[in-house]
Amino acid sequence: MQVASSLPTRKFDVVIVGAGGSGMRASLQLARAGLNVAVLSKVFPTRSHTVAAQGGIGASLGNMSEDNWHFHFYDTVKGSDWLGDQDAIEFMCREAPKVVYELEHFGMPFDRNADGTIYQRPFGGHTANYGEKPVQRACAAADRTGHAMLHTLYQQNVKARTQFFVEWMALDLIRDADGDCVGVTALEMETGDVHVLHAKTVLLATGGAGRIYAASTNAFINTGDGLGMAARSNIPLQDMEFWQFHPTGVAGAGVLLTEGCRGEGAILRNINGERFMERYAPTLKDLAPRDFVSRCMDQEIKEGRGCGPNKDYIQLDMTHLGGDTILKRLPSVFEIGHNFANVDITKEPIPVVPTIHYQMGGIPTNINGQVVVPKGDDYKIIVEGLYAVGECSCVSVHGANRLGTNSLLDLLVFGRAAGNHIVDRLAKEAKAHKPLPKNAADFSLARLARLDASQSGEYAQDVANDIRNAMQQHAGVFRTQKTMDEGVVKINAIRERVKAITLKDKSKVFNTARVEALEVDNLIEAAQATMTSAAARHECRGAHTVKDYERAADDADFPLGRNDKEWMKHTLWDSATNGLSYKPVNLKPLTVESVPPKVRTF
Ligand SMILES: Cc1cc2nc3c(=O)[nH]c(=O)nc-3n(C[C@H](O)[C@H](O)[C@H](O)COP(=O)(O)OP(=O)(O)OC[C@H]3O[C@@H](n4cnc5c(N)ncnc54)[C@H](O)[C@@H]3O)c2cc1C
Repeated sequence: MQVASSLPTRKFDVVIVGAGGSGMRASLQLARAGLNVAVLSKVFPTRSHTVAAQGGIGASLGNMSEDNWHFHFYDTVKGSDWLGDQDAIEFMCREAPKVVYELEHFGMPFDRNADGTIYQRPFGGHTANYGEKPVQRACAAADRTGHAMLHTLYQQNVKARTQFFVEWMALDLIRDADGDCVGVTALEMETGDVHVLHAKTVLLATGGAGRIYAASTNAFINTGDGLGMAARSNIPLQDMEFWQFHPTGVAGAGVLLTEGCRGEGAILRNINGERFMERYAPTLKDLAPRDFVSRCMDQEIKEGRGCGPNKDYIQLDMTHLGGDTILKRLPSVFEIGHNFANVDITKEPIPVVPTIHYQMGGIPTNINGQVVVPKGDDYKIIVEGLYAVGECSCVSVHGANRLGTNSLLDLLVFGRAAGNHIVDRLAKEAKAHKPLPKNAADFSLARLARLDASQSGEYAQDVANDIRNAMQQHAGVFRTQKTMDEGVVKINAIRERVKAITLKDKSKVFNTARVEALEVDNLIEAAQATMTSAAARHECRGAHTVKDYERAADDADFPLGRNDKEWMKHTLWDSATNGLSYKPVNLKPLTVESVPPKVRTF
């Protein structure tokens, strides 16, 4: 067993945990400024989940229909069900064209219009003229936008000489007596050795925790490690009750079919062949936001209009688009149909069900990516030396429901902003490394020592599966107070079991069982944060829809069950106590007029 005093230690200006779109956008800014930057990743950088993004990046370029950033701002605020912070949303939507053009200049192979401009497709919840009609805002490279983007960013990083630590798993944050972050501990998977990475600044870009659910569009590595690291380090997690179900996961397989399908004209049909979204969302129809469409699908299934022998799925119909359009704009969807549903989508519809996709909550930050924690009435106390960007963070631009294409945009805008802020601070303040505390690695070594000493107990995989099944059952598309309360009890009990997980194979070299056991420590933080936060929110807002609190759209006090008087506030979940506190939704400092809350119909 390794001992703290003999651990290998390396020094960097900045350590970034995560080589997805957000981590690599930030690292590019830093490496280009000449800083000594290390990027850690559990997998080869271009295998990060960003590679799976299909549909597009939202930016009001107006290449194909009239658009401007005010419309994008309005759609995002409305999409968020007024839980998004409007200062952050304003910043993101104004910056969007700039970061997309920058990406284009990095060499991103976007699809093109005849006049050479970037091709843009319609996407759910994106409209022109404040909700009047769908707009073409999603900048796309066929249905492989994330793939093209991640490879572009990787190549630029190689050119800028970013140092990658591939198959390294960060374990815990190192904070000194002042609470400042001064590095991370990390496991080198190849050797099984623990290292200390000493840094002036640490940036978490670890992506989402979609693997806390049983049926998920997310990669297996999406276990919420950054959330776990923050939670164990007494940083509360924000708005974790809000999880997005994507309407079109392949039934039975979970693999995603991009919203770009509906952007290109695909239609959702029930067993009668009816385009049922016309009834629920007369203006946007199949292109209403995801939370809304997922609930409508669930409703159709519950009322007996689902398809198939068990009436348990909906059909996504693309047959009218024509083979040429499908093969040009949606080539991966064509392959997915063939490989995962045995369906030729040019000839027959494909079975789909709402599937967990994206976490709206995460580690609270300001628009520079700096991690913030509350103290008394001040909710903006900065954790010095610690930043978070991408899906693991909550700035919050997505509020209670994210619009499609706004995540890739979030990675670019806030990855870049955090990079610039770090460069500025390190240059201006000529900051030296703060000393490492003596016990820097003790906590991580104790976690590993417990696993190595374990002789009996449950396997990580079995406990992880129980977490996933509990989340699927108790925090789904529609929630009830009773199922959520039961879910809290279940997850609290599973937390105790996590403490007693055993590791049978104790070898060091490439021991993936050890990695999985360590990941469960992170899954449980994300799952408990979700369950506890959800059960406490007694209203319907965005992706959090609770049967007990549902009301009609014309209910004067609580339109569609949303309770702005009591619940227009962010949740903060504290791991040590499993307790909750709240912080106001920040409407300042806006440079545009804010969008006042109204009923969310489409
Ligand atoms: C199938 C799918 C399709 C999508 N399509 C779109 C779309 O079209 N448009 C859109 O806007 N959004 C889309 N999204 C959402 C979007 O792709 C993600 O939110 C986004 O890519 C997340 O990027 P990220 O940089 O935060 O993290 P990721 O890309 O998930 O990368 C996380 C990184 O962190 C590393 N990491 C994690 N834990 C550790 C650890 N402990 N130690 C070291 N490294 C670690 C991983 O190895 C990885 O490199 C889609 C998501 C999915 C799942």
